[in-house]
Amino acid sequence: MDEPVLPSHRMAAVLVGLLACATACRDAPTPTLVRVREIRRPMGTYMAITVYAPDEAAGTRALAAAFARVEQVEAAISTWRRTSDASRLNREAGGQPVPIAPELAALLKRAAAVSAETDGAFDVTIGALVRLCRRTWRRRRVPTPEELSEAMARVGHRHVELSPDGKQARLAKAGMRLDFGAIGKGYIVDQAVGSLRRSGIQIALVDAGGDIYAMGAPPERAGWTIGVRDPDRPTEMQILKHRLLVRDCAVATSGDYEQFVVIDGHRYSHIVDPRTGQPVEHMSSVTVVAPDATTADAYATACSVLGPQAAVAFAEERKGVEALVLHRRDGDALARARSSGFDRFVLTEPAATGSDRDKP
Ligand code: ADP
Ligand code: MG
Repeated sequence: MDEPVLPSHRMAAVLVGLLACATACRDAPTPTLVRVREIRRPMGTYMAITVYAPDEAAGTRALAAAFARVEQVEAAISTWRRTSDASRLNREAGGQPVPIAPELAALLKRAAAVSAETDGAFDVTIGALVRLCRRTWRRRRVPTPEELSEAMARVGHRHVELSPDGKQARLAKAGMRLDFGAIGKGYIVDQAVGSLRRSGIQIALVDAGGDIYAMGAPPERAGWTIGVRDPDRPTEMQILKHRLLVRDCAVATSGDYEQFVVIDGHRYSHIVDPRTGQPVEHMSSVTVVAPDATTADAYATACSVLGPQAAVAFAEERKGVEALVLHRRDGDALARARSSGFDRFVLTEPAATGSDRDKP
């Protein structure tokens, strides 16, 4: 084992490590590569990039360029930065179109596509609703029906207007708010991956808060090993459960294991169904494998809203997309559902529980 499992952090559902792979590559030996790694904290999240490069200097240069690219993208899409194009769009909601950077235009297009294919279960215009939930939850109460309908009137992916050339955008309703919490981390991972490729890197692991892209495989390995924690006890390292082996694909996990509130005995997730205004209940975690991290991140959140059966069906319908759902209804044992191709990535998994009864 040449690297320990990463320490847990606030939001990650996934722990990444270069644990020894069971299946070593039998290919001809690769030229000696140097492993270089750096961690920064863009967009309020933890971002770790590991690369294998011909030498230390090349690795360091590639990392610097990737983080510079992330910084550039963050400056356009972060709703936490007052000066970003995304924040300006939020401020100007209901008013005039706003000039936007190509990075934000591309993200809005991708988000609109996921909204369309999930019948609105995924929606980056959910900002007003998420804010309302957070505000009322802090006071240990749930939103009133009036508060809910007022916020819901300000949610709707169809009210995002993007000019045909992608240079301007507008939120059509006053009080609308973009929230990229469910797709932004995946997007910055893909942007970092693009930068690494332009620097000539062919082997890398990019991890932003548990949203991961695995490029190539470390020397002598068949892929990168990723651990998915048991959503019941995410902070205990020893209960690391599913271990996945992946290469040239993305993995993202979404769930309420760390971000939820309990009010009057009910558990409410930070993931909300934009169509009803109701937070997701009972769902613990959804891990999605997809060709890119933006897709994996967005689909993981969308699948949390869809529920276990629909989430698995959603993955089955899409090439290169697999899903693992760990979920629980009040008082029941943890249950597991997964798409038929998911097992391809599983190195080790928890011993079968009664839960596998609802495996599709
Ligand atoms: P994590 O932040 O744990 O990686 P997600 O990727 O699922 O989790 O993102 C959840 C965040 O996305 C929420 O905190 C909220 O800001 C936003 N969000 C909640 N529900 C939705 C939804 N249905 N569609 C899009 N974004 C959502
Ligand atoms: Mg997500």
